[in-house]
Amino acid sequence: MLRVAVVGSGPSGVYTADALTRQESVPDVAVDVLDRLPCPYGLVRYGVAPDHEKIKSLQGSLRKVLEDPRVRFLGNVGVGPAPLTPERLLGLYHAVVYCVGAATDRRLGVPGEELPGSYSATRFVSWYSAHPDEPPDGFALRARSAVVIGVGNVAVDVARVLARRADELRRTDVPEPALRALADSRVTDIHMVGRRGPSQAKFTTKELRELGALADTDVIVREDELALDPAYADPSGLPTAARRNVEVLRSWAAQPPRGRPRRLHVRFFLRPTAFLADEAGRVRAVRFTRTGPDGRGGVSDTGGGEEIAAGLVLRSVGYQGVPLPGLPFDPEGAVVPNDAGRVLRDGTPSPGEYVAGWIKRGPTGVIGTNRPCAKETATALIADAPGLLTRELSADPLAGLRAAGIRTVAWQGWLAIEAAEAQWGRSLDRGTVKIPDWEGLLTAAGHASAPPAEGPA
Ligand code: NAP
Repeated sequence: MLRVAVVGSGPSGVYTADALTRQESVPDVAVDVLDRLPCPYGLVRYGVAPDHEKIKSLQGSLRKVLEDPRVRFLGNVGVGPAPLTPERLLGLYHAVVYCVGAATDRRLGVPGEELPGSYSATRFVSWYSAHPDEPPDGFALRARSAVVIGVGNVAVDVARVLARRADELRRTDVPEPALRALADSRVTDIHMVGRRGPSQAKFTTKELRELGALADTDVIVREDELALDPAYADPSGLPTAARRNVEVLRSWAAQPPRGRPRRLHVRFFLRPTAFLADEAGRVRAVRFTRTGPDGRGGVSDTGGGEEIAAGLVLRSVGYQGVPLPGLPFDPEGAVVPNDAGRVLRDGTPSPGEYVAGWIKRGPTGVIGTNRPCAKETATALIADAPGLLTRELSADPLAGLRAAGIRTVAWQGWLAIEAAEAQWGRSLDRGTVKIPDWEGLLTAAGHASAPPAEGPA
């Protein structure tokens, strides 16, 4: 039997398990899907915004894969630092596929970006998604004005959650402390700011349009910030997605504000250059330099600029892969060097080691992009199977994990967490409500132990 460990139970990990069990060249295959957290689904559980119920419902199809008799979910298993190093894991499985995503945020490299009150959007997302590494009371939302830096889909998510009425979020699985903080939020103005122009924004039109449907929020766009590059003076020459975004933004620019209690300002051509502190040392504003189209599809500084007051700043400039101890890492691309999913050590494929998802190709694409990516990796692994099967394994995987001092949360444990979250939700007269802390999750899973050693998997 070909024994494979998939490290990470987000979409790329689960799609890898799916591809390995669907192929027919090596019918006898057993896949353990390991996760540092006691809960499966990665960013579908801990990244997709709570009000995106349709995308969240993808959990149903991921679940089917994890319930396949040839697949076993093992949560609470940190891979990377000792005791469970990649080397040790490779002694337990013929092959290991790392699907650990991009666990941190990109830096801006601008003075003051770490001032109190300035956070990565990934932390804010983790907070409202009940990620157990993020303190449940981490955001108080006392500021009146918030700046979101970046115009990708994550920026749109965090701006929308800040702008949405808390009672609309009550029907989602958002954890109680976050729901209370959002209900008590004093934020009235949210400025989502792009360093380039509207035709270069990374958000998708569907996500952009949702902002216009927010009950209590006026979306404000300045006509003078909708300039197109002279190369695209006629918008019909733009790629379709960009053209649609520009159409939506132009329609908003033409519409006077309706006097709603919150305003979401979508701004362009402003490059952040400094974060400014108040006397208490907290962020009070972000300074921007004005940019303009450079005639070649990019932008250049045009002189001038402005300061936007903000007691809360969310930096939403993309995720970034982090090195996993014991695995090679390309710091430039922030990915594990690989050839079609085969991990390269010093330029040569390392027998039995593979990657899929964001740690393979970088943090881009929608959830579905992970399916062909995972399939490519699984195809490489299966092609290598005859050689992999000749490797002697040191122990039965579960015994090996136990010997490493790891107490796994198996599928039954996860089902117990799900049941506890449903029960808690009922007691609050809500639907399922997520448990936001390690102790609560492990207790619900039937463990009464501390979280595992820090590790990105
Ligand atoms: P992203 O799409 O790469 O957007 C990053 C944004 O940050 C861009 O506007 C980028 O501007 C800006 N940025 C980067 N460096 C900057 C700097 N130094 N100063 C100022 N701005 C800077 O990343 P993301 O929003 O984190 O999304 C990651 C992936 O997840 C994407 O593929 C996204 O579509 C996906 N996602 C999808 C959904 C959904 O489908 N609903 C939801 C969330 C995330 P430039 O373009 O100028 O670099």
